[in-house]
Amino acid sequence: MRAYVPGEQPQGGGWVKLNTNENPYPPSSRALEAIRLALANEGAGLRLYPSPDSAPLREAAGRFHSFDPARIVAGNGSDDILNLLIRAYAGPGRPIGMMDPSYSLYPVLAAAQAAEVIRVPVADDLSVDPAAVAGCGASVFFLTNPNAPLGVAFSPRVVREIARQFSGLLVVDEAYASFASDDCVALARELSNVVVTRTMSKAHALAGLRVGYALCPGPVADLLHRVRDSYNVDRLAQVAAAAALDDREWLTVTIDQVRATRDRLVAALRKMGWQVNPASGNFVLAAPVSSTHAASVETSADCFEFLRARKILVRRFPGHRLTEKSLRISVGTEQETDAFLAAVAAWMEG
Ligand code: PMP
Repeated sequence: MRAYVPGEQPQGGGWVKLNTNENPYPPSSRALEAIRLALANEGAGLRLYPSPDSAPLREAAGRFHSFDPARIVAGNGSDDILNLLIRAYAGPGRPIGMMDPSYSLYPVLAAAQAAEVIRVPVADDLSVDPAAVAGCGASVFFLTNPNAPLGVAFSPRVVREIARQFSGLLVVDEAYASFASDDCVALARELSNVVVTRTMSKAHALAGLRVGYALCPGPVADLLHRVRDSYNVDRLAQVAAAAALDDREWLTVTIDQVRATRDRLVAALRKMGWQVNPASGNFVLAAPVSSTHAASVETSADCFEFLRARKILVRRFPGHRLTEKSLRISVGTEQETDAFLAAVAAWMEG
């Protein structure tokens, strides 16, 4: 098996880092305050193990989503949750399913459990065929929604149709759903075969903390608790994530800002003639073109290198027809976006 290849984390300063879909803004000050409090008395609390099942964090996530905390499982990032789901539901003779393209971690986790991977193609018009997912034969299917790296979102109506037809467990990976106009939390509340996974890494700006969680049917939560590490979320991460979930005002302001910048970025790139996917996450997938360059794998590589030489980092996804001609650009601050657009204009003149 091969390891997952994460986006580059450049050393040294001066980079405009638009390659790993991090939030460009600092997290809620309440999260920092919670960490300071947990470190009181010279960090005496660190002597003690944290809540084994992340109880205060699950309570906060329950308040946030109006969801029964008994049916929430927390993890060391949503990657941990995805791993637990595959550990519990996949293995030899029990394949996982995924949209192609989508998150490239799923096959890595499947390989570690000797589970086969069934890929259901996203159509050229970026739609998904519910019958193709439902009939794919997987034990557990990962539906990345909004899709990463494509950026498009599938409507809860389509997801509900998939869940209705599918006999396995449908996992809706909502890492980017806070930036979209809809989510599938109601489906997890209602249906016995839908799990929704969420992360604190994107909208809550806490990627460094490593917290994610799953909203599950009761029996699924019970299984995940059995296969997880006994203390899988550390003490500081638990209190900070819980405080961040309770700070709705911070979240609303930040999401509105990221969405506004995203929409400006999409409009600017379209005006320059780039082929831009609909963007529902905190990133934009777009194929560079100029008067001398048609959209192609080479053009995308050329633009990527031009930007990189100017310390602007974006991401490429070679190897799939729907992504290979494009760049994925994370939504940064207004200033970072201006710097990116200015460099793009220079590349187009070049
Ligand atoms: N799902 C998708 C689709 C992602 O892009 C990511 C982040 N790379 C994750 C899950 C995992 O996020 P985290 O482990 O930081 O919660």
